[in-house]
Amino acid sequence: MSAYRDGDKVVVMVPSRLSKAEEEQWIATILERLEERERRRRPSDADLEVRARELSRRYLDGRADPASVRWVANQRTRWGSCTPDDGTIRLSTRLRGMPPWVVDYVLVHELAHLLIPGHGADFWELVGNYPKADRARGYLEGVAAAAHLPLDADAPDTADAGLRHGDDLPHEVAG
Ligand SMILES: [Zn+2]
Repeated sequence: MSAYRDGDKVVVMVPSRLSKAEEEQWIATILERLEERERRRRPSDADLEVRARELSRRYLDGRADPASVRWVANQRTRWGSCTPDDGTIRLSTRLRGMPPWVVDYVLVHELAHLLIPGHGADFWELVGNYPKADRARGYLEGVAAAAHLPLDADAPDTADAGLRHGDDLPHEVAG
């Protein structure tokens, strides 16, 4: 028995031997599970914020204290961004559905920028506290290459209010 999403519909496959009542029971159960699975893979803004605080505690001695963490749909060339001045972190919705350890890496990366602005050795040392940092960077590079996305992830996000080209703030996750 299996279920998958096809656009707006959910297609549930059930054995033909089931009675109508059994079938309905199964469909309800399967839809519930599907929803639960998707909820886990598509954390809400609130989930993100809780997760970010947990990651800060675990890998950054709790020193990074974001004011807000949220998903944004307008970041096409970057996985995440942050504004150290007000402590806000934004993650691209393109990360949704990726493995949780990849999303965690982008969170750790942006959290680390709240403490260290540049991409110097001290920054990478801090990010390296997260054990899967290298693996996650490789994963994201692969995704970007497969999608033919521009790899020049260092360009500031011009869609961000208050941030313009030339601003000397690093807030992207470089591949
Ligand atoms: Zn960065």
